[in-house]
Amino acid sequence: MAEKIIILSDSRSPAPAIPALLETPTGSVRDQLARPLHDLRISVTDRCNFRCVYCMPKALFDKDYQYLPHDSLLSFEEITRLAQLFIAHGVEKIRLTGGEPLLRKNIEKLVGMLSELKTRDGGRLDLTLTTNASLLAKKAQSLKDAGLQRITVSLDALDDAVFKRMNDVDFAVDDVLRGIDMAHQVGLGPIKINMVVKAGMNDQEILPMARHFRHTPYILRFIEYMDVGASNGWNLAEVIPSAEIVRRIGAELPLLPLQANYPGETAARWRYADGAGEIGLISSVTEAFCHDCTRARLSTEGKLFTCLFATGGHDLRALLRAGRSDAEISSAVAQLWRARGDRYSELRTINTSGIERSSRANKVEMSYIGG
Ligand code: SAM
Ligand code: SF4
Ligand code: SF4
Repeated sequence: MAEKIIILSDSRSPAPAIPALLETPTGSVRDQLARPLHDLRISVTDRCNFRCVYCMPKALFDKDYQYLPHDSLLSFEEITRLAQLFIAHGVEKIRLTGGEPLLRKNIEKLVGMLSELKTRDGGRLDLTLTTNASLLAKKAQSLKDAGLQRITVSLDALDDAVFKRMNDVDFAVDDVLRGIDMAHQVGLGPIKINMVVKAGMNDQEILPMARHFRHTPYILRFIEYMDVGASNGWNLAEVIPSAEIVRRIGAELPLLPLQANYPGETAARWRYADGAGEIGLISSVTEAFCHDCTRARLSTEGKLFTCLFATGGHDLRALLRAGRSDAEISSAVAQLWRARGDRYSELRTINTSGIERSSRANKVEMSYIGG
């Protein structure tokens, strides 16, 4: 049975130092690889009602698992204050995630608070959310009313038995599809559908999913199964490379490559030659995109992670709760971003076989940091 390696010690997440000289944000802070700070992913809960085998396997996330106590979560006011400071550094896109973000009580209230924020040039913030859709049919309208613009839904299979094996809580495909349709009806679009492909588990669903989402307003995206966290027992042999997915779909439904929508887009785009829509491929394992990675992640308890594969974060909550000023926290964030040199996936590609179990054991879990 797998060992439990989940609790994050504070020694790996120290409070960041406040620079002696405070600075005014310029909106164009760059890291060591000249990457700007453009996107912020905020995890609003570490809890989830699914037990996806690649994310929160039941054997580890069982009834004894210690979730974060409520008072250690960032409050909505704390999240909004940090979001504002990140926007001053150039963030234009915020994605709420988790765990399952729709499980966070009154999530609409947070959406409302964030949707009031403007980008540096006074424009509209790109505000979105990733969900397993279990509560989407119920919440789509209130999320839209609160100011959410669009949504990404995770769905790993169309076949009920396969999907239930993936989510491991007996959740039915039809309920997810109902959530997606409701989100579409209320105008939470364009809707993206994320399918994580795990060889031998759901790869036979690639074509049924492609066929199902052709001729719909939804953009299906295939995600390579990643070695994120320490609990999913990742194995390279379980990754189906994006090139293979394109080959399998293209053999039945001819595909043509499309230009990226913007530099640094994580998904490679392809369209059906017959005009039936487009798909995306997120190749985090076989074609790392670290050189364009402009994402910061804020964990449920306010730790800043500069990479999905980081082993530790920087405790911004400690600064907030110590009464530090906006200028102090903002300067600390700028200093952290400038020091960032993360490019885990590129290094993995260079030496995939070199990823030892020991180096994976300390990585934070996807359900804690958000996808
Ligand atoms: N619970 C929500 C959901 O599933 O959409 C939001 C959080 S979930 C951690 C965010 C995304 O990460 C989901 O699309 C999920 O499929 C993806 N994900 C989780 N573990 C993954 C892994 N090991 N490899 C690739 N994607 C993963
Ligand atoms: Fe929950 Fe999302 Fe992780 Fe599945 S991928 S267990 S729905 S957090
Ligand atoms: Fe960004 Fe880290 Fe992923 Fe590379 S491995 S794309 S730096 S989050």
